[in-house]
Amino acid sequence: MLGVLKGVATTLSTMMRKPVTRQYPEEHRPVAHRRRGFPVLLWDHEKDEPFCTGCQVCARYCPVECMTVEMKDNPRFASGQSKRRKIVDRFYIDYARCMQCNICVEVCNFDAIAMNNTWEYEELSTPNRRELTYDLDDLMAQSKEKRIIPFNATSALAEQKAREAVFGKPEGQPALEEPQPDEAATASDK
Ligand code: SF4
Ligand code: SF4
Repeated sequence: MLGVLKGVATTLSTMMRKPVTRQYPEEHRPVAHRRRGFPVLLWDHEKDEPFCTGCQVCARYCPVECMTVEMKDNPRFASGQSKRRKIVDRFYIDYARCMQCNICVEVCNFDAIAMNNTWEYEELSTPNRRELTYDLDDLMAQSKEKRIIPFNATSALAEQKAREAVFGKPEGQPALEEPQPDEAATASDK
């Protein structure tokens, strides 16, 4: 009889516990801020254009050659709206080949790319690998629509800039020093 009561007590105490599992995929665990998902491009909300100049340094360093980048003359430079002489025209990343190594983030001189630390673009199961190639609009969407707070480990300045790309600049804070677009040519000579 005592054994039965102990069993019932154990059952009842277990019933009262909070579940340790989640109703995936409806419920997701929060991901760490420093998590390395797949690379995404960042939008310069202050200048209303991409940070990316299309310099192709990331594509050259990508060990699996899954990036394609093209640049163009920035029409907003001629009209004085932007200091970026060149700007990205087309950008593709094949997530089916990307090995999430972070090298493209580390070599970018303009802090224009970051590893995704959200669940977006992470559950990519598909029978067609061609669907895993993302273009400029796809890669820019999260930052442009402020759905990501990117982590940038290259420097405190880069991390601050990444946050400002989402939340804007706090009042009274001095302007950040950005690399000039003309450095793209120097960087691409590496
Ligand atoms: S290295 Fe940076 S600026 Fe150059 S193409 Fe890649 S993401 Fe754009
Ligand atoms: S994370 Fe690595 S493999 Fe993926 S696009 Fe960047 S450099 Fe290429």
